[in-house]
Amino acid sequence: ELGEMSLKDIDQVARTAFPLCMRHLFDTLREDHHLKHGGRMQLGLFLKGVGLKLDDALAFWKAEFSQKVGAERFDKEYAYGIRHNYGKEGKRTDYTPYSCQKIILSTPGVGDHHGCPYRHFSEENLRAALGKMGVSSRALDDVIEKAKTKHYQLACTLTYEAVHGSSCDAGINHPNQYFSDSQKILE
Ligand code: SF4
Repeated sequence: ELGEMSLKDIDQVARTAFPLCMRHLFDTLREDHHLKHGGRMQLGLFLKGVGLKLDDALAFWKAEFSQKVGAERFDKEYAYGIRHNYGKEGKRTDYTPYSCQKIILSTPGVGDHHGCPYRHFSEENLRAALGKMGVSSRALDDVIEKAKTKHYQLACTLTYEAVHGSSCDAGINHPNQYFSDSQKILE
C-alpha cells in the first residue's frame, strides 16, 4: 500500500514519477484549468490511487476549475464527480484507477486529453512530449518505433527506463504501477 500524497508535493511528483498519460493530463489541467469528463476520470482515479485524499482532491480540482468556471460552478457541477470517484455519492462504489489496457482502448474525441499518448498522439506531439519528459534523442527513436508498431506498453516501459536509467523487467501494465515503481527508484 502506498502512502499518502500531499498536495504540496504534487507538482514535483508529477514531473518525476507520473507516466506520460497522467503527466499530459496534469499539465493540461494546470494550463487550461479544465479537463473534460474522460480526463477527469482517468486523472482523478489515478490520483486517488497514488494516495491523494478526498479533501485534497477537492481542493486540487477546485483550485484549477475555479479559475475557469468559478468556485460556485465547481461546487455545483464538478465536486459531485470527484466525491463519486471516492465512493461518496451515488452507488458508493469505490472505483479503481484505470489499467493501461483500458486507457489504450479508450477513444478520446476532439478536445479530450485522456487516453494513452503512445497510441493517441501524433508522432510529432509524442516526440515533443517525450522530450519534455527528459527522454534522450537516442532512446526517443526506440520509443517511437515501439509506438508505431503498436507496442504501446513497451514504448512506455522504454520511456520509464530512459527517464530513470533503470530497467523495468516486468514491463508497464498500469499507470499506478509506473508511479509506484518510479517512487521506489527515486526514494
Ligand atoms: Fe499510461 Fe499505460 Fe499508456 Fe504508459 S502505457 S502512457 S501508463 S496508459
